[in-house]
Amino acid sequence: MLKSETKLILEVCDLHANVEDQPILNGVNLQVYAGEIHAIMGRNGSGKSTLSKVIAGHPAYKITGGTIKFEDNNLLDLDPEERARLGVFLGFQYPIEIPGVSNLEFLRVSTNARREYEKKEELDTFEFEDFVQEKLKIVKMDPAFLNRSVNEGFSGGEKKRNEILQMALLEPKLAILDETDSGLDIDALRVVAAGVNKLATPNTATILITHYQRLLNEITPNYVHVMANGKILKTAGKELALQLEKSGYDWIEQISSNKEENQ
Ligand code: ADP
Ligand code: MG
Repeated sequence: MLKSETKLILEVCDLHANVEDQPILNGVNLQVYAGEIHAIMGRNGSGKSTLSKVIAGHPAYKITGGTIKFEDNNLLDLDPEERARLGVFLGFQYPIEIPGVSNLEFLRVSTNARREYEKKEELDTFEFEDFVQEKLKIVKMDPAFLNRSVNEGFSGGEKKRNEILQMALLEPKLAILDETDSGLDIDALRVVAAGVNKLATPNTATILITHYQRLLNEITPNYVHVMANGKILKTAGKELALQLEKSGYDWIEQISSNKEENQ
């Protein structure tokens, strides 16, 4: 299918962002079409998490230039809750614990907020319990986790499964998963990857932020981007991840600094 026939879900143009007056994003450009899986790789501190949080609307980051379009919306005009209702989902690198808030109720309220926007019927407690059972199977999660406080005392792997469960319930248009693979043993990684693959549809898109090729053995991206110093320096197909695994990031940064010198 030609690109022009598929739908542009996310368009980031020349995005600049600061945190505490410190520039972190320095002109990010990214286009994500329906049905695509993109991987973003890069060294620690290159701005990957910042990009994902800026897309989700985290208030700590100040946008100093550029635009983000999500379908027909100017994302930067919307607050984080509106972005989530529209179908932007961010799976956090470090999912937070919310003591005293039932996981089941938290998932039900967020699922219903999203369903309301999609004009689907609201699920009451009983209906939601049935709905969630189906989704638990995708992440092979023990239902006992629903009766605990959100992420409280969950292991790293359990928190990541809970993120994928939330994603399965919310049915986002754009899922951004920030290092969902970090801290997972190989079995948990496979479960999470199978969940992501199962939830990817021709109408939705996924951005995986990852350090490691091993996740990309389980999930095949259409594009791999490398970020450095708050910019996407290189974009290629899935073979780029293998190349990075072998040769590290130095050669990409070298190419890019040579380019800048020649300008
Ligand atoms: P990555 O996810 O690629 O490892 P980050 O986006 O987390 O990188 O961070 C990019 C840079 O921005 C780092 O130098 C980090 O210390 C800084 N940074 C990010 N968020 C904050 C914040 N809330 N306060 C201060 N510095 C931050
Ligand atoms: Mg990060």
